[in-house]
Amino acid sequence: MPPIVSPSTGPDIVPSSIGTDLVLVYAPGSGGADSDPVSTPPVVPAHAEPVAGVGFHGWRWHVQAGDAAGRPDLGLLPEWHTVAVVPAAALEARPKMLVMDVDSTLIRQEVIELLAAHAGREAEVAAVTEAAMRGELDFTQSLHHRVKALAGLDAAVIDQVVAAVEPQPGAREVIGAFQAAGWQVCAVSGGFTQVLAPLAADLGLDQYRANDLEIVEGRLTGRVLGTVVDRAVKAEMLRAWSSAAGVHADGVIAAGDGANDIDMLQAAGLAVAFCAKPALRAHAHVELDLPSLDVLRVLAGL
Ligand SMILES: [Mg+2]
Repeated sequence: MPPIVSPSTGPDIVPSSIGTDLVLVYAPGSGGADSDPVSTPPVVPAHAEPVAGVGFHGWRWHVQAGDAAGRPDLGLLPEWHTVAVVPAAALEARPKMLVMDVDSTLIRQEVIELLAAHAGREAEVAAVTEAAMRGELDFTQSLHHRVKALAGLDAAVIDQVVAAVEPQPGAREVIGAFQAAGWQVCAVSGGFTQVLAPLAADLGLDQYRANDLEIVEGRLTGRVLGTVVDRAVKAEMLRAWSSAAGVHADGVIAAGDGANDIDMLQAAGLAVAFCAKPALRAHAHVELDLPSLDVLRVLAGL
């Protein structure tokens, strides 16, 4: 006999009325003593908590879950101010985990473009990267195409690329805050293990996964080894890491910038499009256009 399923339990029928959503209004600038005096925008309630971090300041407060009326009117926000809302389920889930894309998310650059510059093929590779991140090209095919352009490159340039990699503003702060709370921070990349491994060690990441560049006799062959980390694998890694750490999907915050991050964001409780391509934005709870990963700390309630 099949189990009796009540029609009233469908997600479209039961309102999300348990708990509270978190509203964050934020703007660029520290808001500290070294900057212009910060006036609280009229849309921010008096009980809101002032918050600040790397490159931003703002206010956060709770509203009843799903209560659109309790959120600030976007049209009334002062210039440069943005609003982000964290759904109650994501806000309240414990423990949490942060899973980030690497190129143009955890770091400011695209590693393959740094490598291609050494091979004198930067413009060609950058054009393919742009098209792939807009979702116009199959990622795996585009990766093979771009890596092929690196064939013959001296593997020693990897060390120069590692040295050139710049973590995004606020990266160290958000990683430190999550780990101080006892939560893991992971990075999954369609880029390369040879660059991500030293970066992960430097930043103290708990987990990471990327593609392996094939190197023979000290030179890149223009191939990658094993399964390509594409958008599906990114989501699989998010699920595997969160499952192993006992983190419910609601507790996972995923941040990325490209079409390759769509599946990963869909698997997370809080999906953040970080200075993202249009293809990713429709899949995000939060569009974060201020270049500071430290905002994720505040969104996590830390
Ligand atoms: Mg990226």
